[in-house]
Amino acid sequence: MLQDKDRIFTNIYGRFDQSLAGAMSRGAWDGTKGLIEKGRDWIINEMKASGLRGRGGAGFPTGLKWSFMPKQSDGRPSYLVVNADESEPGTCKDRDILRHDPHTLVEGCLLAGFAMGAVAAYIYVRGEFIREREALQRAIDEAYEAKLIGKGNKNGYDFDIYVHHGAGAYICGEETALLESLEGKKGQPRLKPPFPANVGLYGCPTTVNNVESIAVAPTILRRGAAWFSSIGRPNNVGTKLFMLVGHVNTPCTVEEAMGITFRELVEKHGGGVRGGWDNLLAVIPGGASCPVIKGEDMADAIMDFDGMREKKSSFGTAAVIVMDKSTDVVKAIARLAYFFKHESCGQCTPCREGTGWMWRVMERLVRGEAQKREIDMLLDVTKQIEGHTICALGDAAAWPIQGLIRNFRPEIERRIDEFTRNAHRAEPVLVA
Ligand code: NAD
Ligand code: SF4
Repeated sequence: MLQDKDRIFTNIYGRFDQSLAGAMSRGAWDGTKGLIEKGRDWIINEMKASGLRGRGGAGFPTGLKWSFMPKQSDGRPSYLVVNADESEPGTCKDRDILRHDPHTLVEGCLLAGFAMGAVAAYIYVRGEFIREREALQRAIDEAYEAKLIGKGNKNGYDFDIYVHHGAGAYICGEETALLESLEGKKGQPRLKPPFPANVGLYGCPTTVNNVESIAVAPTILRRGAAWFSSIGRPNNVGTKLFMLVGHVNTPCTVEEAMGITFRELVEKHGGGVRGGWDNLLAVIPGGASCPVIKGEDMADAIMDFDGMREKKSSFGTAAVIVMDKSTDVVKAIARLAYFFKHESCGQCTPCREGTGWMWRVMERLVRGEAQKREIDMLLDVTKQIEGHTICALGDAAAWPIQGLIRNFRPEIERRIDEFTRNAHRAEPVLVA
C-alpha cells in the first residue's frame, strides 16, 4: 500500500486548505523557477524517465508525447490543452483534483507548457463541473495575482492559462473533438494522423493531456523520475488515482500505487464488497468502455495496464465499477450500450448505425426475447465496429458487450430459455 509520504494529492479528500497558501504549505510551487531553469530537454527527459503513462485512459507515455512538439517554432504558436472533460461513466478523479487540489494542475500547466514551448494552456472543463470550474478559476486567479503565471511572472516563462467549459457532450472528451469544440465548432473527432502535435488547436502544434497527467508532473520533477518509477512495476509505474464506485461499502477516490491488487484496493479503501466477497458478481475495471470481468476472475487481479490486459480488459481511467449479485449485469451493459448510442456523434456509419443496432439487440437480450444465434451475431457486429471508426467511441461501445458475451453468455442464454419457456406456456391451447 502507498505510504502517505508518497502521495501527490494530499488534499484530495478535501481535508486541507485549497488556497494558494494551503497548496504552497504542501509543497506546490516550490522551486518551480529552478525546474524551468534546467531547460526544456531536461524536463522532457525526466518525464520520459519517470515512465508516466497518460492518465486519461489510453496510457500513452506522457514524456514521449511532449517530445513530439516542435523544438523550433515555424511561426505558429504552440499550445497545451488540458482535457478536463471527464465524462467516462464511473470516472470522477479529475473532478476531485479540480475541486481539492487545483494548484497542482495550474503549476503542472506552466511546467508542461514550458517543456513543449507552448504560449498558453486551455483547460477544457466538462460543462456539468460548475463548482470545479470555479475552484480552478480561483486557483488560476491566485496564481496570476502572485505572479506565478502570466506575463513577466516570477518563474521566468511567460504563460497564460484559460478555462473553457464544455456543454455536456461526452464526445468532446475525445481530444480532436475537444479541439474542434474549443475552436467554436461542432464537437466531432478529426481523423488522425495528423496528430495534434503537428496540427492541433487552430492548426497549430498542440499537446492534449489529461488533468491527472499534468497535475502529477510538478511532483515528479521535484522528487525525481527515479522516485516515481520506483513505485509499481515496469511499464506500469507511479501513483494513480483509483475510483471505487458501485457496490463497495465506502465508495471513494484514492491515490494508490500502480499494481495494487484489486482485493487490497477494495479492502483497504472501499471497506470491502457489499455483502462480502462471495457476493461479488462482476467488475468493470477502468470506466464504462472497458470489458466487464467476472467477479471470481478479479480475486488475484493486479490493477494496472498489464494486469488488466491479462484479464482481457483494460485499465482505462482506473474507475473500478464493482457490481454485487443484486446487479442485473445484462441490463447494466444494455444501459451502457444506450449511453454510447446516445453519445455517438454520428459521423461514421459503423458507430452511428452500429451503436443503435447493438443497443436494440441488448434490450431484447435483457428480456430474453431473442434467439441464441443472435448472441454470436451481436458479437460479430461488435467486431465490425471495433477498429473501423474515426475515434475510440466505436471501440468503447463494442468492448463492454464483448466482455459480457465472453463472461456471461450462460446468463444471456438462461434468459432466452426462460422467455421461450414462458412464451410456449402462454400459447393458447387449440381445441378441435
Ligand atoms: P489513443 O490511443 O488514440 O490516443 C492516446 C493519446 O496518444 C492521444 O493523445 C494521441 O494523440 C496520442 N497518440 C497515439 N498514437 C500516437 C502517435 N502515433 N503519434 C502521436 N501521438 C499519438 O486514445 P484516445 O482516443 O485518446 O483515448 C481513448 C481512451 O480514452 C479510452 O481507452 C478510454 O479509457 C479513455 N476515455 C476517458 C474518458 C475520461 O473521462 N477520462 C472518457 C472517454 C474515454
Ligand atoms: Fe463519431 Fe462514433 Fe465515429 Fe467517433 S466513432 S467519430 S463518435 S461516429
